[in-house]
Amino acid sequence: MKLLQVALPSPLRQVFDYRLPAGAATPVAGVRVRVPFGRQALIGLVTDVVSESDVPAAKLKSVTEVLDIEPALPPALWTLARWAAQYYQHPLGDALSQMLPVLIRQGEPLLAPHPQVWRLTARGRALVPDGLRRAARQQQAWQVLNEHLQGLSSTALQALGVSREALLALKEKELVERIELAEPATAMAVTPLLAEAPLSLNTEQAAALSLLAAQTGFRVTLLQGITGSGKTEVYLQHIERVLQAGQQVLILVPEIGLTPQTVARFRARFRCAVAVLHSGLTDNERLSAWRAARAGEVSLIIGTRSAVFTPMARPGLIIVDEEHDLSFKQQEGFRYHGRDVAVRRAQLENIPIVLGSATPALESIANIQAGRYQRLSLTQRAGGAQAPVVRCLDLRGQPVQDGLCAAARQAITETLARGEQVLVFMNRRGFAPVMLCHDCGWQAECSRCDARPTLHRDPVRLHCHHCGYEQAPPRHCPTCNSSDLRPVGVGTERLEQALIAAHPGIPVHRVDRDSTRRKGALQGLLDEIHKPGPAILVGTQMLAKGHHFPRVTLVLIPDVDGALFSADFRGGERLAQLLVQVAGRAGRGDKPGQMWLQTHQPEHPLLVTLLSQGYIAAARALLNERQLLGLPPAGYLALLRAEATRADLPLTFLQQAAVEIVQGKYGVQAWGPVPAPMARKAGLNRVHLLLKADDRKTLHALLATLVPWLDALPSARQVRWSIDVDPQELQ
Ligand code: ADP
Ligand code: ZN
Ligand code: ZN
Repeated sequence: MKLLQVALPSPLRQVFDYRLPAGAATPVAGVRVRVPFGRQALIGLVTDVVSESDVPAAKLKSVTEVLDIEPALPPALWTLARWAAQYYQHPLGDALSQMLPVLIRQGEPLLAPHPQVWRLTARGRALVPDGLRRAARQQQAWQVLNEHLQGLSSTALQALGVSREALLALKEKELVERIELAEPATAMAVTPLLAEAPLSLNTEQAAALSLLAAQTGFRVTLLQGITGSGKTEVYLQHIERVLQAGQQVLILVPEIGLTPQTVARFRARFRCAVAVLHSGLTDNERLSAWRAARAGEVSLIIGTRSAVFTPMARPGLIIVDEEHDLSFKQQEGFRYHGRDVAVRRAQLENIPIVLGSATPALESIANIQAGRYQRLSLTQRAGGAQAPVVRCLDLRGQPVQDGLCAAARQAITETLARGEQVLVFMNRRGFAPVMLCHDCGWQAECSRCDARPTLHRDPVRLHCHHCGYEQAPPRHCPTCNSSDLRPVGVGTERLEQALIAAHPGIPVHRVDRDSTRRKGALQGLLDEIHKPGPAILVGTQMLAKGHHFPRVTLVLIPDVDGALFSADFRGGERLAQLLVQVAGRAGRGDKPGQMWLQTHQPEHPLLVTLLSQGYIAAARALLNERQLLGLPPAGYLALLRAEATRADLPLTFLQQAAVEIVQGKYGVQAWGPVPAPMARKAGLNRVHLLLKADDRKTLHALLATLVPWLDALPSARQVRWSIDVDPQELQ
């Protein structure tokens, strides 16, 4: 008897056995099948063909339909999927379903039906070269098709600037025809590939490029280049070689980095087909991008985290830009790290991978030190711009008004007087983080979280940023009935208001989640910012990355102290990365930039090292601390989280886990259970148990037995629990 084991989109950590109907050809692993599941019909992927089952024969159901002949994913990606589900301890069926486009999960064919191309007819080929000179668009369309006699798809033609009207006019004249290909379209080499000339590289860039060009097979390279050093130009020229060799390139960027400007830079350089994958695509757009990548019809694939699972017919290179960025880690459900999965994928595909950043993650620096990754450095700004000068403003004993001390206010005035722009970076949106009664000390609190709601003025409300709850602010103190309720602390709205009042006539642009909620609002603000003349930008980390503000010559950070004393062991690393990234926004034009930090801790070792010796020195000091404490990358963590309305349930569940870990002598330490840093959120009580091991193998050996054991515990059904392998945030 032949039985199929099938991974189904289900939270259960198991595969399900089905009979293969008599006469049906045996599918290979990775093929989609439709099966009955309870009262539903589900689509899953075959993981194995076996001959025995633990399910009694009478209860075994049959597969309803085998959907494909070939597996949905190419072999390397199939192996990657199984590895990632195992590594991150996530049910395989659910992990697989997150890797596939919705419409593929619903049974749409793997291949795009009937690919069609436009090509010249015999008559078209016989035309004299300037035979259409009186119809410029038709002439151009003819020229493009004459350079691609094998034919081009509509999308490719569109990318090459050929209009549909011109094609239809040529069809009318019987100079072109539209034909259906018998076989799926393979990537058609676009010649010439380049739409613009590459820049001539400086010495460091040229050295980096020639090392990259020499690589074959799996190799991880960390391209550590200061902001503005021309990393993107190195990527572009490296990509060019890979595309010329007929291979595909996958580029992963942080969520915030997938701006129209980034995509425009790639499109401006190459004339080949580009697929852009982001959360805003419709199901149909996602399906066609996925099919095109899988069939090898697009050469360049740019996307955020989940694009790491895009199948490619001829993979040649993976690039992860801003590899340190937190958005590469999925924070719920299938908690994978896009960068780490990308490295594993490159290994399975046996292709090179480049990780780029001005501020590499400590994990990547440790991998350089261990000799696993190769390092390339770009230490100079390309194009002649100078690196910004950074200094601390000592706040001790200084009067502060709306978050700014006198020296900072004066620097703003002087910068604006020179006709230049100022960027004030404040990682807190809203008007003020606290609403306080001046008479009795009462503070507004969220009724559902251990947190204070933020006071907003635009529109007026108390808004909890943790659970989303909104309410009107009280007019009188609920405790003492005083009307002297005051906003305490500074958010972006308050800064904006104070700066407008202090600098009449100067435009102030606030960029945060609230001001950019409307579609197109961010682009509108960016367009305003790029206009000449003095201006002030106030923004959260939406402004910190990726953008290029050549007119900004002064960056001010009113508050770094909070981050210096973060409870999270990664707090120092994140702060150092943020400061360097924000500084990188300044002085990218022809004028040198400055960054000023307001702090009560100007002697804090992290600030001193960062400012006097730079990011890598600060990162090495942080790495030493981690080594002393055995924390990542010197140790390996997994975080067990549990939550429930009743406070005792998550605690009981995780206590059982802790006892099992200690008694099982796995060589893994269990820290906790302890209340989560925010012990109550959205009405749920939250408890953590942190697992720590000295090596990855020990940790994974434990997880392999612990997770199924936990799954079977009766107490597991009374809580919502999850496991986070290599957690990035301990919240
Ligand atoms: P990064 O990605 O490292 O932040 P970019 O690639 O965006 O840096 O380059 C910063 C600026 O320098 C861009 O305006 C880019 O066009 C310019 N640039 C890069 N390389 C060169 C070069 N070799 N010659 C002149 N300008 C360059
Ligand atoms: Zn009061
Ligand atoms: Zn709340």
